[in-house]
Amino acid sequence: MAPLSIHIPTLMLALLSGFAMLGVQLWMAQRSKLRYLDLAVWTWGSWALLGGFAMLSARLVLPLWLSALAGNGLIALGIIFYNEAIHRHVLGRSLPRWLWWGAPAVSWALTAAVLGAPLPVRTSIISLLFGLLLCPAIVVLMTAGWRRESSLRAVALTLVAAAASLFLRSIHAIVNPDDYRDLMQSSLGQGLTFLFSFICLIGTGFGFVLANFERIARHMEDMASTDGLTGCLNRMTADALLRHELERGRREGTPLAFVLLDLDHFKDVNDCHGHHAGDDALRAFAAEVRARLRGSDVVGRWGGEEFGLVLPATDAPGAERLVEAIREAVSRLRLCDGEGRDFSMTVSAGIAIAEPGANLSADLLFMRADRALYVAKDGGRNRVQVHDERIAEMASMPPRATAGDRASTPPEGAAAETSPTTSMDTGRPA
Ligand code: GH3
Ligand code: MG
Ligand code: MG
Repeated sequence: MAPLSIHIPTLMLALLSGFAMLGVQLWMAQRSKLRYLDLAVWTWGSWALLGGFAMLSARLVLPLWLSALAGNGLIALGIIFYNEAIHRHVLGRSLPRWLWWGAPAVSWALTAAVLGAPLPVRTSIISLLFGLLLCPAIVVLMTAGWRRESSLRAVALTLVAAAASLFLRSIHAIVNPDDYRDLMQSSLGQGLTFLFSFICLIGTGFGFVLANFERIARHMEDMASTDGLTGCLNRMTADALLRHELERGRREGTPLAFVLLDLDHFKDVNDCHGHHAGDDALRAFAAEVRARLRGSDVVGRWGGEEFGLVLPATDAPGAERLVEAIREAVSRLRLCDGEGRDFSMTVSAGIAIAEPGANLSADLLFMRADRALYVAKDGGRNRVQVHDERIAEMASMPPRATAGDRASTPPEGAAAETSPTTSMDTGRPA
Protein backbone atom coordinates (compact mmCIF):
# COMPACT_ATOMS: atom_id res chain seq x y z
CA MET A 1 0.00 0.00 0.00
CA ALA A 2 1.15 3.56 -0.74
CA PRO A 3 1.85 5.90 2.24
CA LEU A 4 -1.46 7.72 1.73
CA SER A 5 -3.87 5.11 0.55
CA ILE A 6 -7.57 5.48 0.15
CA HIS A 7 -9.77 2.45 -0.28
CA ILE A 8 -10.94 2.92 -3.88
CA PRO A 9 -13.95 0.54 -3.89
CA THR A 10 -15.37 2.44 -0.88
CA LEU A 11 -14.78 5.78 -2.59
CA MET A 12 -16.31 4.43 -5.80
CA LEU A 13 -19.37 3.32 -3.84
CA ALA A 14 -19.67 6.79 -2.26
CA LEU A 15 -19.32 8.36 -5.70
CA LEU A 16 -22.02 6.14 -7.22
CA SER A 17 -24.38 6.76 -4.29
CA GLY A 18 -23.70 10.51 -4.51
CA PHE A 19 -24.53 10.74 -8.22
CA ALA A 20 -27.60 8.55 -7.68
CA MET A 21 -28.83 10.71 -4.76
CA LEU A 22 -28.23 13.97 -6.64
CA GLY A 23 -30.01 12.58 -9.70
CA VAL A 24 -32.98 11.37 -7.66
CA GLN A 25 -33.28 14.61 -5.65
CA LEU A 26 -33.13 16.82 -8.73
CA TRP A 27 -35.57 14.59 -10.58
CA MET A 28 -38.04 14.70 -7.66
CA ALA A 29 -37.68 18.47 -7.35
CA GLN A 30 -38.47 18.89 -11.03
CA ARG A 31 -41.55 16.73 -10.77
CA SER A 32 -43.09 19.37 -8.52
CA LYS A 33 -42.37 23.05 -9.08
CA LEU A 34 -38.75 23.29 -10.13
CA ARG A 35 -39.14 22.92 -13.87
CA TYR A 36 -35.98 24.58 -15.09
CA LEU A 37 -34.17 23.18 -18.08
CA ASP A 38 -30.72 24.05 -16.68
CA LEU A 39 -31.42 21.86 -13.65
CA ALA A 40 -32.86 19.11 -15.88
CA VAL A 41 -29.67 19.10 -17.95
CA TRP A 42 -27.61 18.85 -14.76
CA THR A 43 -29.77 15.90 -13.70
CA TRP A 44 -29.10 14.12 -17.00
CA GLY A 45 -25.40 14.82 -16.48
CA SER A 46 -25.56 13.20 -13.05
CA TRP A 47 -27.32 10.13 -14.50
CA ALA A 48 -24.70 9.87 -17.28
CA LEU A 49 -21.84 10.13 -14.75
CA LEU A 50 -23.53 7.56 -12.51
CA GLY A 51 -23.80 5.21 -15.50
CA GLY A 52 -20.19 5.93 -16.52
CA PHE A 53 -18.64 5.21 -13.13
CA ALA A 54 -20.92 2.16 -12.74
CA MET A 55 -19.70 0.80 -16.08
CA LEU A 56 -16.06 1.38 -15.09
CA SER A 57 -16.67 -0.50 -11.83
CA ALA A 58 -18.42 -3.30 -13.74
CA ARG A 59 -15.13 -4.35 -15.33
CA LEU A 60 -14.98 -6.93 -12.53
CA VAL A 61 -17.79 -8.78 -14.34
CA LEU A 62 -17.89 -7.30 -17.86
CA PRO A 63 -15.29 -7.56 -20.64
CA LEU A 64 -12.73 -4.74 -20.42
CA TRP A 65 -13.57 -3.28 -23.83
CA LEU A 66 -17.25 -2.95 -22.95
CA SER A 67 -16.60 -1.46 -19.51
CA ALA A 68 -14.02 1.02 -20.86
CA LEU A 69 -15.98 2.10 -23.95
CA ALA A 70 -19.31 2.48 -22.19
CA GLY A 71 -17.77 3.94 -18.99
CA ASN A 72 -15.55 6.56 -20.64
CA GLY A 73 -18.22 7.47 -23.21
CA LEU A 74 -20.84 8.05 -20.50
CA ILE A 75 -18.44 10.05 -18.32
CA ALA A 76 -17.57 12.26 -21.32
CA LEU A 77 -21.30 12.67 -21.98
CA GLY A 78 -21.93 13.55 -18.32
CA ILE A 79 -19.22 16.23 -18.41
CA ILE A 80 -20.75 17.63 -21.59
CA PHE A 81 -24.18 17.78 -19.93
CA TYR A 82 -22.61 19.77 -17.06
CA ASN A 83 -20.94 22.05 -19.62
CA GLU A 84 -24.28 22.51 -21.37
CA ALA A 85 -26.08 23.36 -18.11
CA ILE A 86 -23.40 25.91 -17.18
CA HIS A 87 -23.40 27.45 -20.68
CA ARG A 88 -27.18 27.76 -20.67
CA HIS A 89 -27.26 29.19 -17.16
CA VAL A 90 -24.48 31.75 -17.63
CA LEU A 91 -24.59 32.64 -21.32
CA GLY A 92 -28.21 31.76 -22.07
CA ARG A 93 -27.25 29.59 -25.05
CA SER A 94 -26.29 25.99 -25.79
CA LEU A 95 -22.84 24.55 -26.30
CA PRO A 96 -21.58 24.44 -29.88
CA ARG A 97 -23.01 21.33 -31.58
CA TRP A 98 -19.60 19.95 -32.49
CA LEU A 99 -18.69 19.74 -28.80
CA TRP A 100 -21.91 17.87 -28.03
CA TRP A 101 -21.21 15.06 -30.42
CA GLY A 102 -17.43 15.46 -30.64
CA ALA A 103 -16.67 14.87 -26.96
CA PRO A 104 -18.24 11.39 -26.59
CA ALA A 105 -17.02 10.44 -30.08
CA VAL A 106 -13.39 11.43 -29.28
CA SER A 107 -13.68 9.67 -25.95
CA TRP A 108 -14.84 6.43 -27.64
CA ALA A 109 -12.24 6.70 -30.39
CA LEU A 110 -9.42 7.31 -27.89
CA THR A 111 -10.58 4.52 -25.59
CA ALA A 112 -10.78 2.10 -28.53
CA ALA A 113 -7.38 3.20 -29.85
CA VAL A 114 -5.59 2.60 -26.55
CA LEU A 115 -7.51 -0.51 -25.45
CA GLY A 116 -4.45 -2.68 -25.99
CA ALA A 117 -2.09 -0.31 -24.14
CA PRO A 118 -1.13 -0.81 -20.48
CA LEU A 119 -3.53 0.74 -17.94
CA PRO A 120 -1.16 3.61 -16.86
CA VAL A 121 -1.01 4.82 -20.50
CA ARG A 122 -4.80 4.53 -20.91
CA THR A 123 -5.30 6.32 -17.59
CA SER A 124 -2.98 9.14 -18.63
CA ILE A 125 -4.69 9.74 -21.97
CA ILE A 126 -8.27 9.50 -20.71
CA SER A 127 -7.52 11.72 -17.67
CA LEU A 128 -6.08 14.35 -20.01
CA LEU A 129 -9.23 14.17 -22.15
CA PHE A 130 -11.62 14.51 -19.19
CA GLY A 131 -9.57 17.41 -17.79
CA LEU A 132 -9.78 19.18 -21.15
CA LEU A 133 -13.52 18.55 -21.35
CA LEU A 134 -13.99 20.46 -18.08
CA CYS A 135 -12.22 23.53 -19.49
CA PRO A 136 -15.09 25.15 -21.48
CA ALA A 137 -17.23 25.22 -18.33
CA ILE A 138 -14.32 26.61 -16.29
CA VAL A 139 -13.66 29.38 -18.83
CA VAL A 140 -17.34 30.39 -18.87
CA LEU A 141 -17.57 30.37 -15.07
CA MET A 142 -14.32 32.27 -14.55
CA THR A 143 -15.32 35.01 -17.01
CA ALA A 144 -19.02 35.74 -17.48
CA GLY A 145 -20.18 33.51 -14.62
CA TRP A 146 -17.94 35.06 -11.94
CA ARG A 147 -20.08 38.19 -11.62
CA ARG A 148 -23.40 36.32 -11.64
CA GLU A 149 -24.66 34.24 -8.72
CA SER A 150 -22.01 33.92 -6.02
CA SER A 151 -22.63 30.15 -5.75
CA LEU A 152 -21.21 29.82 -9.27
CA ARG A 153 -17.79 30.73 -7.85
CA ALA A 154 -17.85 27.58 -5.73
CA VAL A 155 -18.73 25.61 -8.87
CA ALA A 156 -15.85 27.25 -10.75
CA LEU A 157 -13.26 26.61 -8.05
CA THR A 158 -14.38 22.99 -7.61
CA LEU A 159 -14.12 22.37 -11.34
CA VAL A 160 -10.64 23.95 -11.40
CA ALA A 161 -9.58 21.55 -8.61
CA ALA A 162 -11.11 18.60 -10.49
CA ALA A 163 -9.41 19.54 -13.77
CA ALA A 164 -6.07 20.11 -12.01
CA SER A 165 -6.30 16.70 -10.34
CA LEU A 166 -7.01 15.06 -13.72
CA PHE A 167 -4.03 16.79 -15.37
CA LEU A 168 -1.79 15.78 -12.46
CA ARG A 169 -3.10 12.23 -12.73
CA SER A 170 -2.29 12.23 -16.42
CA ILE A 171 1.34 13.07 -15.67
CA HIS A 172 1.52 10.97 -12.52
CA ALA A 173 0.33 7.84 -14.36
CA ILE A 174 3.28 8.09 -16.76
CA VAL A 175 5.87 9.01 -14.12
CA ASN A 176 4.57 6.53 -11.58
CA PRO A 177 2.95 3.66 -13.51
CA ASP A 178 3.05 1.34 -10.49
CA ASP A 179 0.20 3.35 -8.93
CA TYR A 180 -2.04 2.53 -11.89
CA ARG A 181 -1.86 -1.21 -12.46
CA ASP A 182 -5.52 -1.64 -11.58
CA LEU A 183 -8.48 0.77 -11.53
CA MET A 184 -9.38 -0.25 -7.99
CA GLN A 185 -5.78 -0.11 -6.75
CA SER A 186 -5.56 1.78 -3.46
CA SER A 187 -2.74 4.10 -4.47
CA LEU A 188 -2.11 7.79 -3.91
CA GLY A 189 -2.82 8.72 -7.54
CA GLN A 190 -6.02 6.69 -7.84
CA GLY A 191 -7.18 7.76 -4.38
CA LEU A 192 -6.76 11.47 -5.02
CA THR A 193 -8.51 11.22 -8.39
CA PHE A 194 -11.57 9.52 -6.99
CA LEU A 195 -11.55 11.83 -3.96
CA PHE A 196 -11.57 14.88 -6.26
CA SER A 197 -14.34 13.31 -8.34
CA PHE A 198 -16.37 13.02 -5.15
CA ILE A 199 -15.59 16.62 -4.11
CA CYS A 200 -16.50 17.73 -7.62
CA LEU A 201 -19.85 15.94 -7.38
CA ILE A 202 -20.71 17.62 -4.06
CA GLY A 203 -19.20 21.06 -4.79
CA THR A 204 -20.54 21.54 -8.29
CA GLY A 205 -23.89 19.83 -7.62
CA PHE A 206 -24.75 21.93 -4.55
CA GLY A 207 -23.21 25.04 -6.08
CA PHE A 208 -25.20 24.77 -9.29
CA VAL A 209 -28.49 24.07 -7.52
CA LEU A 210 -27.87 27.04 -5.18
CA ALA A 211 -27.00 29.28 -8.14
CA ASN A 212 -30.37 28.37 -9.67
CA PHE A 213 -32.11 29.21 -6.40
CA GLU A 214 -30.24 32.51 -6.18
CA ARG A 215 -31.49 33.37 -9.65
CA ILE A 216 -35.06 32.32 -8.88
CA ALA A 217 -35.04 34.39 -5.67
CA ARG A 218 -33.74 37.44 -7.54
CA HIS A 219 -36.35 36.96 -10.25
CA MET A 220 -39.13 36.77 -7.68
CA GLU A 221 -37.80 39.86 -5.94
CA ASP A 222 -37.84 41.73 -9.27
CA MET A 223 -41.37 40.57 -9.98
CA ALA A 224 -42.53 41.73 -6.55
CA SER A 225 -40.99 45.19 -6.89
CA THR A 226 -41.34 46.11 -10.58
CA ASP A 227 -44.17 46.66 -12.99
CA GLY A 228 -44.13 43.95 -15.65
CA LEU A 229 -45.26 46.17 -18.54
CA THR A 230 -42.94 49.16 -18.19
CA GLY A 231 -40.10 47.84 -16.01
CA CYS A 232 -40.61 50.76 -13.61
CA LEU A 233 -40.85 50.12 -9.87
CA ASN A 234 -44.35 49.29 -8.77
CA ARG A 235 -46.34 51.64 -6.59
CA MET A 236 -45.63 49.86 -3.32
CA THR A 237 -41.85 49.89 -3.81
CA ALA A 238 -41.70 53.45 -5.18
CA ASP A 239 -43.88 54.65 -2.32
CA ALA A 240 -41.54 53.04 0.22
CA LEU A 241 -38.57 54.69 -1.51
CA LEU A 242 -40.34 58.07 -1.44
CA ARG A 243 -40.71 57.81 2.32
CA HIS A 244 -37.10 56.66 2.67
CA GLU A 245 -35.71 59.50 0.53
CA LEU A 246 -37.89 62.04 2.31
CA GLU A 247 -36.41 60.97 5.61
CA ARG A 248 -32.90 61.08 4.19
CA GLY A 249 -33.43 64.57 2.74
CA ARG A 250 -34.63 65.72 6.17
CA ARG A 251 -31.54 64.29 7.84
CA GLU A 252 -29.11 65.64 5.25
CA GLY A 253 -30.85 69.00 4.87
CA THR A 254 -31.53 68.64 1.14
CA PRO A 255 -34.79 69.26 -0.75
CA LEU A 256 -36.70 66.41 -2.39
CA ALA A 257 -38.94 66.70 -5.43
CA PHE A 258 -41.90 64.44 -6.05
CA VAL A 259 -43.50 64.51 -9.50
CA LEU A 260 -46.77 62.98 -10.67
CA LEU A 261 -46.94 62.39 -14.42
CA ASP A 262 -50.22 61.51 -16.11
CA LEU A 263 -50.57 60.86 -19.83
CA ASP A 264 -53.19 63.09 -21.42
CA HIS A 265 -56.37 61.62 -22.85
CA PHE A 266 -54.80 58.20 -22.80
CA LYS A 267 -58.18 56.56 -22.98
CA ASP A 268 -58.46 58.01 -26.50
CA VAL A 269 -55.16 56.36 -27.47
CA ASN A 270 -56.62 52.99 -26.49
CA ASP A 271 -59.95 53.73 -28.14
CA CYS A 272 -58.42 54.86 -31.44
CA HIS A 273 -55.36 52.64 -31.72
CA GLY A 274 -56.12 49.63 -29.52
CA HIS A 275 -54.76 48.43 -26.17
CA HIS A 276 -51.70 46.89 -27.75
CA ALA A 277 -50.59 50.25 -29.12
CA GLY A 278 -51.51 51.75 -25.72
CA ASP A 279 -49.17 49.28 -24.01
CA ASP A 280 -46.39 50.11 -26.47
CA ALA A 281 -46.94 53.79 -25.77
CA LEU A 282 -46.66 53.19 -22.00
CA ARG A 283 -43.40 51.29 -22.53
CA ALA A 284 -42.00 54.02 -24.80
CA PHE A 285 -43.01 56.68 -22.29
CA ALA A 286 -41.32 54.85 -19.41
CA ALA A 287 -38.13 54.39 -21.46
CA GLU A 288 -38.12 58.09 -22.35
CA VAL A 289 -38.45 59.05 -18.68
CA ARG A 290 -35.82 56.59 -17.49
CA ALA A 291 -33.33 57.84 -20.08
CA ARG A 292 -33.43 61.29 -18.48
CA LEU A 293 -33.09 60.36 -14.82
CA ARG A 294 -29.99 60.24 -12.61
CA GLY A 295 -28.97 56.99 -10.95
CA SER A 296 -30.40 58.16 -7.62
CA ASP A 297 -33.79 59.15 -9.08
CA VAL A 298 -36.71 56.74 -8.86
CA VAL A 299 -39.54 56.22 -11.30
CA GLY A 300 -42.57 54.19 -10.26
CA ARG A 301 -45.82 53.33 -11.99
CA TRP A 302 -48.47 54.56 -9.62
CA GLY A 303 -51.26 52.99 -11.63
CA GLY A 304 -52.68 52.92 -15.19
CA GLU A 305 -51.09 55.81 -17.07
CA GLU A 306 -49.82 57.59 -13.97
CA PHE A 307 -46.18 57.62 -12.92
CA GLY A 308 -44.34 59.10 -9.96
CA LEU A 309 -40.79 60.45 -9.85
CA VAL A 310 -38.81 60.71 -6.64
CA LEU A 311 -35.93 63.15 -7.19
CA PRO A 312 -33.58 63.38 -4.19
CA ALA A 313 -31.54 66.56 -3.64
CA THR A 314 -33.61 68.43 -6.23
CA ASP A 315 -35.17 71.89 -5.80
CA ALA A 316 -38.12 73.34 -7.70
CA PRO A 317 -36.17 74.90 -10.62
CA GLY A 318 -34.16 71.67 -11.07
CA ALA A 319 -37.26 69.49 -11.04
CA GLU A 320 -39.11 71.81 -13.39
CA ARG A 321 -36.22 71.77 -15.88
CA LEU A 322 -36.10 67.98 -15.87
CA VAL A 323 -39.86 67.48 -16.13
CA GLU A 324 -40.12 70.09 -18.92
CA ALA A 325 -37.47 68.14 -20.84
CA ILE A 326 -39.47 64.94 -20.29
CA ARG A 327 -42.69 66.63 -21.40
CA GLU A 328 -41.07 67.93 -24.58
CA ALA A 329 -39.44 64.62 -25.39
CA VAL A 330 -42.72 62.74 -24.89
CA SER A 331 -44.59 65.14 -27.19
CA ARG A 332 -41.93 64.52 -29.86
CA LEU A 333 -42.27 60.72 -29.64
CA ARG A 334 -43.78 59.22 -32.79
CA LEU A 335 -45.52 55.90 -32.26
CA CYS A 336 -47.13 53.52 -34.68
CA ASP A 337 -50.11 51.21 -34.11
CA GLY A 338 -50.70 47.72 -35.54
CA GLU A 339 -52.33 49.16 -38.65
CA GLY A 340 -49.37 51.40 -39.44
CA ARG A 341 -51.06 54.59 -38.25
CA ASP A 342 -48.78 57.11 -36.53
CA PHE A 343 -49.81 58.72 -33.29
CA SER A 344 -48.28 60.76 -30.52
CA MET A 345 -49.11 61.58 -26.91
CA THR A 346 -48.59 64.29 -24.35
CA VAL A 347 -48.11 64.27 -20.61
CA SER A 348 -49.06 66.59 -17.78
CA ALA A 349 -47.07 66.85 -14.57
CA GLY A 350 -47.48 68.13 -11.06
CA ILE A 351 -44.40 68.85 -8.94
CA ALA A 352 -44.21 69.19 -5.17
CA ILE A 353 -41.06 70.03 -3.22
CA ALA A 354 -40.24 68.99 0.30
CA GLU A 355 -37.92 71.73 1.56
CA PRO A 356 -35.45 70.57 4.22
CA GLY A 357 -37.05 72.45 7.15
CA ALA A 358 -40.68 71.94 6.13
CA ASN A 359 -41.15 68.51 7.70
CA LEU A 360 -43.70 67.39 5.07
CA SER A 361 -45.14 63.92 5.25
CA ALA A 362 -45.09 61.70 2.17
CA ASP A 363 -48.89 61.82 2.07
CA LEU A 364 -48.96 65.60 2.02
CA LEU A 365 -46.20 65.78 -0.58
CA PHE A 366 -48.18 63.40 -2.76
CA MET A 367 -51.33 65.41 -2.26
CA ARG A 368 -49.55 68.61 -3.32
CA ALA A 369 -48.17 66.98 -6.47
CA ASP A 370 -51.65 65.68 -7.22
CA ARG A 371 -53.15 69.15 -6.87
CA ALA A 372 -50.48 70.64 -9.09
CA LEU A 373 -51.22 67.93 -11.64
CA TYR A 374 -54.89 68.80 -11.38
CA VAL A 375 -54.08 72.42 -12.19
CA ALA A 376 -51.89 71.35 -15.14
CA LYS A 377 -54.73 69.26 -16.53
CA ASP A 378 -57.22 72.02 -15.91
CA GLY A 379 -54.97 74.50 -17.66
CA GLY A 380 -55.10 72.60 -20.92
CA ARG A 381 -52.82 69.55 -20.41
CA ASN A 382 -49.32 69.00 -21.88
CA ARG A 383 -48.06 71.23 -19.08
CA VAL A 384 -45.83 71.14 -16.01
CA GLN A 385 -47.09 72.76 -12.83
CA VAL A 386 -45.14 73.28 -9.61
CA HIS A 387 -47.22 73.35 -6.43
CA ASP A 388 -47.13 76.91 -5.07
CA GLU A 389 -48.83 79.28 -2.66
CA ARG A 390 -51.67 79.95 -5.09
CA ILE A 391 -52.55 76.28 -5.32
CA ALA A 392 -52.15 75.82 -1.57
CA GLU A 393 -54.55 78.67 -0.91
CA MET A 394 -57.32 77.29 -3.06
CA ALA A 395 -59.79 76.57 -0.33
CA SER A 396 -61.61 73.87 -2.23
CA MET A 397 -61.10 72.29 -5.58
CA PRO A 398 -63.72 70.49 -7.65
CA PRO A 399 -62.79 67.03 -8.91
CA ARG A 400 -61.29 66.89 -12.39
CA ALA A 401 -64.16 66.16 -14.73
CA THR A 402 -62.15 64.43 -17.44
CA ALA A 403 -60.41 61.60 -15.64
CA GLY A 404 -62.84 58.90 -14.60
CA ASP A 405 -60.51 57.61 -11.92
CA ARG A 406 -60.28 61.04 -10.35
CA ALA A 407 -64.00 61.76 -10.32
CA SER A 408 -64.22 60.55 -6.76
CA THR A 409 -61.29 62.64 -5.52
CA PRO A 410 -62.71 64.61 -2.59
CA PRO A 411 -62.25 68.36 -2.52
CA GLU A 412 -58.98 69.09 -0.74
CA GLY A 413 -58.91 72.28 1.26
CA ALA A 414 -56.41 74.11 3.36
CA ALA A 415 -57.56 72.04 6.31
CA ALA A 416 -56.15 68.90 4.71
CA GLU A 417 -52.78 70.61 4.41
CA THR A 418 -52.52 71.11 8.12
CA SER A 419 -53.86 67.71 9.01
CA PRO A 420 -52.65 65.21 6.40
CA THR A 421 -54.58 62.22 7.60
CA THR A 422 -55.47 61.24 4.02
CA SER A 423 -53.58 58.20 2.87
CA MET A 424 -52.00 58.10 -0.57
CA ASP A 425 -54.68 55.72 -1.68
CA THR A 426 -57.56 57.99 -0.81
CA GLY A 427 -59.59 58.77 -3.86
CA ARG A 428 -56.79 57.55 -6.15
CA PRO A 429 -57.46 54.10 -7.45
CA ALA A 430 -54.37 52.47 -8.93
P1 GH3 B 1 -56.64 62.60 -18.62
O1 GH3 B 1 -55.97 63.46 -19.62
O2 GH3 B 1 -57.67 63.38 -17.82
O3 GH3 B 1 -55.69 61.90 -17.72
O4 GH3 B 1 -57.46 61.54 -19.45
P2 GH3 B 1 -57.15 60.01 -19.59
O5 GH3 B 1 -57.96 59.48 -20.73
O6 GH3 B 1 -55.70 59.79 -19.66
O7 GH3 B 1 -57.63 59.46 -18.21
P3 GH3 B 1 -58.63 58.32 -17.85
O8 GH3 B 1 -58.42 58.06 -16.38
O9 GH3 B 1 -60.02 58.64 -18.29
O10 GH3 B 1 -58.15 57.05 -18.65
C1 GH3 B 1 -56.98 56.43 -18.37
C2 GH3 B 1 -56.83 55.36 -19.40
O11 GH3 B 1 -55.58 54.68 -19.29
C3 GH3 B 1 -57.91 54.32 -19.31
C4 GH3 B 1 -57.21 53.01 -19.48
O12 GH3 B 1 -57.78 52.32 -20.57
C5 GH3 B 1 -55.79 53.39 -19.82
N1 GH3 B 1 -54.86 52.45 -19.22
C6 GH3 B 1 -54.58 52.29 -17.92
N2 GH3 B 1 -53.67 51.29 -17.76
C7 GH3 B 1 -53.37 50.83 -18.99
C8 GH3 B 1 -52.51 49.79 -19.48
O13 GH3 B 1 -51.80 49.09 -18.73
N3 GH3 B 1 -52.47 49.58 -20.82
C9 GH3 B 1 -53.23 50.34 -21.67
N4 GH3 B 1 -53.14 50.09 -22.97
N5 GH3 B 1 -54.04 51.28 -21.24
C10 GH3 B 1 -54.14 51.55 -19.93
MG1 MG C 1 -54.42 60.40 -18.11
MG1 MG D 1 -54.91 58.99 -14.83
